[in-house]
Amino acid sequence: MLDGCTPWPAEFAERYRAEGYWRGESLGAVLRATAEEFGPRTALVHGDRRISYAELDAWADRLATGFADHGIKRDERVVVQLPNVPEFVAICFALFRLGAKPVFALAAHRHTEIRHLQELSGATAYIGPGTYRGFDYRDMAEQIDFRLRFDLDSDLEGAPRDFPEADPSDVAFFLLSGGTTALPKLIPRMHDDYVYQTRTAASVCELSADDVYLAALPIEFNFAWGSPGVLGTLWNGGKAVIADTPSPDECFSLIEREGVTVTALVPSLTQIWVEVAEWTDSDISTLRLLQVGGARMRPEFVKSIGPALNCRLQQVFGMAEGLLTFTRNDVDALDTQGTPISPADEMRIADESGNDVPTGEIGELITRGPYTPRGYYRVPEHNKKAFTEDGFYRSGDLARLTENGELVIEGRIKDMIIRGGDKISSGEVESHLGEHAGVAGVAVVGVPDEFLGERICAYVVPKGRAPSLDELRAFMHGRDVAEYKLPDLIKIIDAFPLTPLGKVDRKALR
Ligand code: AMP
Repeated sequence: MLDGCTPWPAEFAERYRAEGYWRGESLGAVLRATAEEFGPRTALVHGDRRISYAELDAWADRLATGFADHGIKRDERVVVQLPNVPEFVAICFALFRLGAKPVFALAAHRHTEIRHLQELSGATAYIGPGTYRGFDYRDMAEQIDFRLRFDLDSDLEGAPRDFPEADPSDVAFFLLSGGTTALPKLIPRMHDDYVYQTRTAASVCELSADDVYLAALPIEFNFAWGSPGVLGTLWNGGKAVIADTPSPDECFSLIEREGVTVTALVPSLTQIWVEVAEWTDSDISTLRLLQVGGARMRPEFVKSIGPALNCRLQQVFGMAEGLLTFTRNDVDALDTQGTPISPADEMRIADESGNDVPTGEIGELITRGPYTPRGYYRVPEHNKKAFTEDGFYRSGDLARLTENGELVIEGRIKDMIIRGGDKISSGEVESHLGEHAGVAGVAVVGVPDEFLGERICAYVVPKGRAPSLDELRAFMHGRDVAEYKLPDLIKIIDAFPLTPLGKVDRKALR
């Protein structure tokens, strides 16, 4: 496994292989096999482009050669920052085949985040969209220490040739953590683990070659990429339709035009879809399954989703760190987040000392399993805190288990804000705002918001004249940070409330 990653202990790896979870297949090889089976069928749709399985497979081969000819080598990390386009899929498979490791940046990331991802991953290359929605990614990447920079206009393809097969037990790519600490960590996802996750999620959702999946969320999210997402659809010969935005305007007409059967959304978007479904002219009756996850939902709202969109609702709890739980029937979908997709997933609800709480009581969800990696990349000190000694990942989520073993998320210990579909680390926003001349102290918390779930509120103890919200937002914008992290509200206070241990009492602030 790539240096800097934590492999599963040998006895777990052996068990996962022996029990058939890890089947020794690389992502590139699985695409090859599906292309042989489903060659002329449509794999990807974007706008008026239609790409067959055979075309996608051959395209990935040409790109792999092109990247190799440009000097990208096996094991090198490559920051991939693209909007929802088919190129994302082809480029990732090209890098998988080459044995290079894509790092999935978000399209919303700016200089600060991309520089951090480059430094943390040691990435030598960057692939961006050029200019997209008025932002010049090329210009941004030029200021960062990459040896090679490409965009969608670059001449990337070469005459296909064979590369040595990627090792299925090696890292395939890196997902980003939601960011419980100051800046995102990198989650190494291995071929074996991700092939297993995507296949299993697809089988729980009963995906077949007749299914049409709509990637409405950003394709680089674990949800839309592999839960079961685009990959789970492709493994079964289905069609993956890529939307530019998750807006109902665009998505409803794609559902009608392409006969979409399955899609995935976060709660805030689901709310918009439910409202628009009431008066839309589009025929969305082909939709059979809507997965909703990524943040908590109000129980009264949950009930309205299935009837409004005339489809089955599946609640999903998921994290880029691994564990996925899905509801399996309409009753559970109303008030739980379901059960793990794999029989080998281990979930425990632990108290502060790490002991199991009695069934039904609330504690921290900790988990391990065949697609939950044992460490973040290159942060050994952080890993000691983020994982228990016996390899359980501490999710930072407060949860309970029902008598039937269903997971119910009750809250959060970690200092993370979930604003619509975006995860924001309080610490990261605090470290930016703390640099402002008018700020003596700052604590950033998520405050409840009916529509977004949470909004970002900055409590500021001022130094001299108190700064305004506009000033703080402009200040953070000037630091080239992704827009979604900018505070929505500011509250000026004289001093922070403290916990008995003398820490800022975030609960009280919230
Ligand atoms: P990410 O790795 O960005 O997908 O974020 C994972 C985190 O999102 C989890 O640890 C939870 O805090 C939150 N999350 C995901 N799904 C749900 C859900 N269904 N309900 C509540 N929180 C969720």
